[in-house]
Amino acid sequence: MSEEQGLLPVGFVKNFYFCQQIPYINLVMHVFEPETESMVYGRERHLRFHAQYLPRGIRAVRVETDVWLAGPRLGLSGVLDALVHAVFGELVPCELKVSGLGRGGAPLKDLVQLTAYAMLVEEVYGRTVKRGVLYYSEDGGKHVVYFRDSLRGLVRKAVEAMRKMVETEKPPTARSLDKCAGCWYSRICWGGPVNRQP
Ligand code: SF4
Repeated sequence: MSEEQGLLPVGFVKNFYFCQQIPYINLVMHVFEPETESMVYGRERHLRFHAQYLPRGIRAVRVETDVWLAGPRLGLSGVLDALVHAVFGELVPCELKVSGLGRGGAPLKDLVQLTAYAMLVEEVYGRTVKRGVLYYSEDGGKHVVYFRDSLRGLVRKAVEAMRKMVETEKPPTARSLDKCAGCWYSRICWGGPVNRQP
């Protein structure tokens, strides 16, 4: 099951929490950002999630990489970087980022994206998933995400809002104005690059 069968890619949920305009531009206007440098870098280096990227406390028995997941109940599909089969039968979804974690911690968009994958793992495997790992290759940062109800609610909220966007073709009112500088979609939203904070 895939996009053609009505499932939205998980990446759209991530973009929704960067700026709600992006899924609207993708889904309704059918305009997409060309592959970015970091995407090419990740693909060309064949970056793969390894067991050593896991924090202490999560002991891997087996690591499956590039795991295709489709969840008709959730309405999403996507390829998870890694699904760690840990001791005591625990399933731990993991994502590898080519950026750095820094001091500010993991951004909301990454937390919600990993939560969406966790919910897909639960739907596909019929098991409860309680935590996952974000690994940031630039600075080696590791962040354990606990899939609380609040994060799960944000995933459902994004799916519902994006379905409504497609149905009504109505653009969202929210714009992440603090992120316009450097955003590829500024050519759609503002007719060109935004060089300073609006
Ligand atoms: S340019 Fe600004 S408003 Fe438009 S998608 Fe990017 S962040 Fe959102």
